[in-house]
Amino acid sequence: MERIATILKQYWGYTSFRPLQQEAMTCVMDGRDSVVVLPTGGGKSLCFQAPAMVLPGMAVVVSPLISLMKDQVDALVANGVRAACIHSMMGDAERRAVDAEIRSDRLKILYVSPERLVQERFLAYLRAANISFLVVDEAHCISQWGHDFRPEYRQLRGLRDTFPNVHVHAYTATATRHVRDDIATELALREPSVLVGSFDRPNLTYRAEPRRDSFRQIDEVLARHSGESGIIYCISRREVDSLCARLNDAGHHAVAYHAGMADNDRRNNQEAFIRDEADIMVATVAFGMGIDKPDVRYVIHAGMPKSIEHYQQESGRAGRDGLEAECRLFYSGADFMIWKGILSKVDVEAADAAFSKLEDMQRYCTGLACRRAALLAYFDERYPKERCGACDFCLGELDTVENSPAVVRAILTCVDELGSMAGPTYTALVLTGSTEERVLAKGHNQIGSYGRLASEDQRSVRDWIEQLVSQGYLEKTGEYHVLHCTQKARGLDEKLPSLARTSARPKRVSKAAAQSWEGVDEGLFEHLRALRKHQADTRSVPPYVVFTDAALRDMARKRPRTMGEFLGVSGVGHKKWHDFGEVFLGAIRDYCEKHGLSGGAAGIGPGEHRERPFGRRLSAVERERQTAALFAEGCSIEEVSERLQLAASTVEGYLLKYVESEGRTSPAPWVSDGVLERVRACAQDLGTERLKPIYEALEGEIEYGLIRLCVACIKNGG
Ligand code: ADP
Ligand code: ZN
Repeated sequence: MERIATILKQYWGYTSFRPLQQEAMTCVMDGRDSVVVLPTGGGKSLCFQAPAMVLPGMAVVVSPLISLMKDQVDALVANGVRAACIHSMMGDAERRAVDAEIRSDRLKILYVSPERLVQERFLAYLRAANISFLVVDEAHCISQWGHDFRPEYRQLRGLRDTFPNVHVHAYTATATRHVRDDIATELALREPSVLVGSFDRPNLTYRAEPRRDSFRQIDEVLARHSGESGIIYCISRREVDSLCARLNDAGHHAVAYHAGMADNDRRNNQEAFIRDEADIMVATVAFGMGIDKPDVRYVIHAGMPKSIEHYQQESGRAGRDGLEAECRLFYSGADFMIWKGILSKVDVEAADAAFSKLEDMQRYCTGLACRRAALLAYFDERYPKERCGACDFCLGELDTVENSPAVVRAILTCVDELGSMAGPTYTALVLTGSTEERVLAKGHNQIGSYGRLASEDQRSVRDWIEQLVSQGYLEKTGEYHVLHCTQKARGLDEKLPSLARTSARPKRVSKAAAQSWEGVDEGLFEHLRALRKHQADTRSVPPYVVFTDAALRDMARKRPRTMGEFLGVSGVGHKKWHDFGEVFLGAIRDYCEKHGLSGGAAGIGPGEHRERPFGRRLSAVERERQTAALFAEGCSIEEVSERLQLAASTVEGYLLKYVESEGRTSPAPWVSDGVLERVRACAQDLGTERLKPIYEALEGEIEYGLIRLCVACIKNGG
């Protein structure tokens, strides 16, 4: 293992192991077959890549997708590892180059697609090579019980016979025992060590809330992540297209991905996202498999997924690099109906199982408990702590309704009084005392519970009804989702359930977020990101192949001054030190000089704060407060941007929030009233739903940010 530690620093620039990595590497080193189950982002690749560098010969890795293989190989080569892949899309010249490397016995890691490994000619070729060990990556693809069965993987059964003396190691992120057992059997593993890690992703923050004005809700998340990469999942292709268009109209840079698009468009969009040219990927579930982008900082679900497995997998694409990331889910009762409609078209037997998964998902959404504990429990893992500190429930963002018992009683009474004949929407109408014709016509304004919750808005009442459904006090039946009180509701006396009021905005940051920004100079980090993009483009690789965000943050924290210090940055191995040291050191030096920062802050340990007032990344809330104070003093966007070291676009976002929350009717002093009048004139004709038409009508003379500000003032009554 000492050799491994040396290799890890030399090639990857890492000095510690993630959970179970050391154990998994020991299996490879000692020549024991293994099945390793770790969540996405758990660091599976390193478990076989590092030993491959130590053992003599070449490791052969089976991987299901060409895009994945290429990414892995790019990343390995950037670290100075001799790695290559062989797949059907490569040209003759490329192929010959790989052959030559294999023959010269210098290649350490070879990625191949499963089809290759059953071609007799290719096998004969491999037999002649010196193979150190075999790896089956994404090994769940071999199991019909998994979510991603691939027939090609079935043919890997013969591998053991073809290479009887070579050890086989299987890796997957799919945890079920069934799949695990299948993998071991199908690959004929010999007494494999089975290593199963925790599925908790401590750096992810989970939040779920009812969908109200979805665009606004999404925009609120985006505002906190400006310039960062994120994915927004929608249920339908139509939604993908319209949301993507709307985001671009609003001045974001988003691209779309779904199965209805031409292959070429899809590929270009994916590429733009991976290369950090587009920040936002708006997609259906078709997007994601084969994407290893490690710095996805948020995953938004604009609609409810059809199962917790899907949610786990899709949200899991956030924060693979181990840095904090946000998983946000917006749901509504309508999503449930949409899925039910889709799922009822499959055969009856499968539909039952699918419905029950859908209900689990719904329960997760409306549940009033730690999200992390709920997710883990679904996969049979118990979360050991009382509060996770990184979900809306544990962060205290779900306010319980003060008079829950009275509200619960009112709802249950109303359902009874309506004679178990009405659905959630209608019930909410009656409870809030609606004077709609249909309520009056049926005389439901005469029943006792009519208007009992008149001080609440209908949306909240609907949410509470859903919460009672998921807690088992109410039940929906039939095609029209008619509500009934359950046996559980009948047994209620003193101990009434609590209801939550979901707040529109996250109030707190998770510990992971606070820690990973500890001591990091945010401006320097942004500066280094721009440099990374430039370096990546000149080399035609994705930016994260140059350095991950984790490495850049460590640089912006330690601010190395010498090549020696640069090597101390996590994620800097020898090759990157050699290739990028000079240019990144130069950029850090310039930045520090310009901003009066001392370099060489390597001694700063976790928990210590630097005294520079704005050097530390503040939580969105703290930042909002800070900017609001400056705006109240009348500071301009430029001044705020300069004083807080924030991009002007970020400051504009805060200004918008400030204007909205203060209910301002004039955008002065940031925008003149003259501009407001011009925007108002256009808005009168064109409406305020979309900004693009206004922008165009003003012939591009007024920037989107300013238009948005004016529109906010107009909406405030200005
Ligand atoms: P998985 O394949 O399990 O989803 P990856 O192998 O892609 O995970 O690793 C996720 C990220 O974590 C990568 O950016 C990788 O470089 C990083 N990583 C893995 N192991 C370590 C480690 N021991 N220290 C620091 N970073 C690590
Ligand atoms: Zn929690």
